[in-house]
Amino acid sequence: MRKFIMMWSILAVLAAICLSYAAERPAEWTKVRNEYVAEGHNFCEICGSKKDIEVHHVKPWAKWPDLRYDKSNLITLCRSKYWGFDCHWAVGHGGNTRWENPWVRDDVKYLKDLISKDKNAITDGRSDEYLKYIRARVKEFNIIGNRGL
Ligand SMILES: [Zn+2]
Ligand SMILES: [Zn+2]
Repeated sequence: MRKFIMMWSILAVLAAICLSYAAERPAEWTKVRNEYVAEGHNFCEICGSKKDIEVHHVKPWAKWPDLRYDKSNLITLCRSKYWGFDCHWAVGHGGNTRWENPWVRDDVKYLKDLISKDKNAITDGRSDEYLKYIRARVKEFNIIGNRGL
């Protein structure tokens, strides 16, 4: 009998874990995300790729619950590495999935302009230089933020 109760407790805990994961990104998000993509945001705002797109929250999901389904808080980036870097990871998050880049819109515009005007910016290191700058600035912002300043 005790074994039976223990088995059910384990199952209950597992079910709770599964439900909490599902609650993290509910059906409402899938709906809003798909609508956003269908409304013309089906390509990466940096490199233009339609492959491996990510609908990114400018103000993060966890920190801004009121803006989770607000389309003005969304931007399409990608993981395709079309221009040699992971647009979502490097620009959306400054190189760390836990980090928030509050300057993401400016950085997207800067990189898009830089590379679309001159593809040499990828090979001569100018885009890498800017990505390093993003990473340093975003890292500082997130570390200071976590200290509660
Ligand atoms: Zn993101
Ligand atoms: Zn991209």
